[in-house]
Amino acid sequence: MLNFRNTTYGCIALLLMAILLWKEYQLYYPFLVVLLLYIGTLSWGAFDLRLNFFMQSTYDRKTSTNQIAITFDDGPTPYTLEILDLLNQYGVKASFFCIGSQVLKYPEIAKQIVMQGHVIANHSMNHPNSIGFFSSDSVAVEMKHANQAIEKITGKKTLLYRPPFGVSNPHIAKALDYCAMTSIGWSIRSLDTLNRDENKIFKRIKKRLRPGKIILLHDTSKKTVHVVKSLLIELQTNKLEALNLEDFLNQKVYEN
Ligand SMILES: [Zn+2]
Repeated sequence: MLNFRNTTYGCIALLLMAILLWKEYQLYYPFLVVLLLYIGTLSWGAFDLRLNFFMQSTYDRKTSTNQIAITFDDGPTPYTLEILDLLNQYGVKASFFCIGSQVLKYPEIAKQIVMQGHVIANHSMNHPNSIGFFSSDSVAVEMKHANQAIEKITGKKTLLYRPPFGVSNPHIAKALDYCAMTSIGWSIRSLDTLNRDENKIFKRIKKRLRPGKIILLHDTSKKTVHVVKSLLIELQTNKLEALNLEDFLNQKVYEN
């Protein structure tokens, strides 16, 4: 299995072989090959939660049902209200990975998320761009402060965390353990923050839509509101049932 420990052991073995080659034939390039291989594999592991390279993340579910999960990151924002209206209209429950500072900025919207039967979860306190370079203590502070903000406003003690940018590393893994939280990834990335064309975003999701998938969207733009509307119609047409993560994963998402 490709993970941090196996990759490190594998590269140490290759390094020993490189030393033998150097002693025998005075070859230097095997050292470079081993170094590039190690850096390349670690970088891949850091940006793809589905590899479970540094830590375990749930990113889909094997299922014979017609169920999927829709998740939103980076809110709440005023667009969240429009999305909540649409979800309500189509009788769909979703999950919102909220930024703690946004929860404090829009407390009424955060309360609405919970009151309408959706799951609220942790997406760090401030979503720092450099969180991938934080110590485990600093990551834990980001997690804890967001948990406190969510609990203060909604009364919910969330157990689910989604790493900002989907970045993982040993520090984030340690903070996750320390805060006793579960990491949630995704299996359909909508790219709704990168792509400007809402039709392209929707088509990208539609192409990958299968039971058991977790879709990643962001409740931060009008564009995504339109994509959500198309998605909800598509789900209805294909008789796919979207559930919040508590029901989709059939696991406890709050401490209380
Ligand atoms: Zn984010």
